[in-house]
Amino acid sequence: MPEQYDMIIIGAGPAGTSAALYAAPLGLNVLLLDKEAFPRDKICGDALSGKSMEILRELNLAEEAQKLPGAHIHSVVFGSPKGVVTDIPMKSASQDGIPTGLVVPRKIFDAFLFEKAVQTPAKIITGFEVRNILEENGQICGVSGINRSSGRVEEYRGKMVLGADGYHSLIARKKKIHDRNPDHWITAVRAYYKNVSGLEHQIELHFVDEIIPGYFWLFPAGDRLANVGLGIVQSALQKRPFNLKKAMDNIINSNTFAERFEQAEAVSKTEGWNLPAASIRRKNYGNGFMLLGDAAGLIDPFTGEGIGNAMVSGKHAAETAAKAVQAGRFDAEILAEYDRKLWNHIGAEARTSTLLQKIGRNKTLLNMVINKAAGSAHVRETLSGMMANTIPRKNLASPLFYMKLLFS
Ligand SMILES: Cc1cc2nc3c(=O)[nH]c(=O)nc-3n(C[C@H](O)[C@H](O)[C@H](O)COP(=O)(O)OP(=O)(O)OC[C@H]3O[C@@H](n4cnc5c(N)ncnc54)[C@H](O)[C@@H]3O)c2cc1C
Repeated sequence: MPEQYDMIIIGAGPAGTSAALYAAPLGLNVLLLDKEAFPRDKICGDALSGKSMEILRELNLAEEAQKLPGAHIHSVVFGSPKGVVTDIPMKSASQDGIPTGLVVPRKIFDAFLFEKAVQTPAKIITGFEVRNILEENGQICGVSGINRSSGRVEEYRGKMVLGADGYHSLIARKKKIHDRNPDHWITAVRAYYKNVSGLEHQIELHFVDEIIPGYFWLFPAGDRLANVGLGIVQSALQKRPFNLKKAMDNIINSNTFAERFEQAEAVSKTEGWNLPAASIRRKNYGNGFMLLGDAAGLIDPFTGEGIGNAMVSGKHAAETAAKAVQAGRFDAEILAEYDRKLWNHIGAEARTSTLLQKIGRNKTLLNMVINKAAGSAHVRETLSGMMANTIPRKNLASPLFYMKLLFS
């Protein structure tokens, strides 16, 4: 009889490695598969905000993560459609001295998480592309695929299979729960530049007029490297199509940014990727399987961040899997607990961000908020509190907040 793992994880990005890391102390017998070898790049803004840091702290990895090549973040800069800029300070470090936000290139960050997973008892195979899922009596019970080093087709059996294989997830497609509703998908492009001026410890989001409701970002990635990109909801792009790469070049060469890019040079191609946003709650479990991270469509609809939620999903999937092993049941009913725990954890923030995404389409409001913040320390402090979640962020989605701003 071939070995039967407790869980097979497809994909060793932040979702898959987190699941393996949370599974280790629970004593689960894990197989982690990825089609790539690490280090590998992943098109991303590379920002690790509060939620990612929270999970890294829980996994006892935050101390080491802050020493990875990259940047420590102390503030968020917002640019309005009219070009007004405001710099909202964040707490630069928590009580333990660990920064509240980091930017670490994914080639480095994912390899860091991968190496931590290698140190667990999990069996890990890279260069293994899963091509098919195995099913018996309506229950997913394994995977088959190509081992790229031998060229052979191999099959592995597991009590549960976790799809942590990104937005084009095989299980999501096979189970017909992969949606392509353009209201809930974002398209983004990213490039690395060297020597963009004035970029040290702040992440910058610019709501440039021509690309509303999208935004242009500039993130410092350490050693004078900048992660530069642009993203927009797909339904908005369909209504008013434009070429994202050209739009990014235009912004870089515009009066507002040209000076900052005068000494800069692109050190990568501009590449695009898709982001399934958590503005809807997608099905993420069934008989013998759970979907994690981008495979479950967990990206913050407003900020485009998905690493934190991917890691949160790894935690809840591993904990649910451990309970399932204890109960000796791997059906949809027992795995439904994963969906409940995950959405209890991320649901409120996802709902607020969905509202903020809608507000972000309104140029008048964006101009007003950023203008007010630029001129008022009190408004900057309020927004800073909301970003740190010390002031309820849902206030940002309330009309009252804007009324108060208007008359302040
Ligand atoms: C342009 C852009 C900017 C972004 N900026 C940010 C940001 O600043 N901060 C943030 O938090 N999030 C950001 N995100 C979102 C973030 O990149 C994702 O949410 C995150 O990568 C999700 O992690 P994951 O583990 O679910 O999937 P992924 O990181 O996509 O990992 C999936 C893994 O599965 C493997 N795989 C895929 N198919 C197979 C297969 N068939 N067999 C075996 N292995 C397979 C892949 O090789 C990969 O290693 C951004 C996304 C984009 C596109």
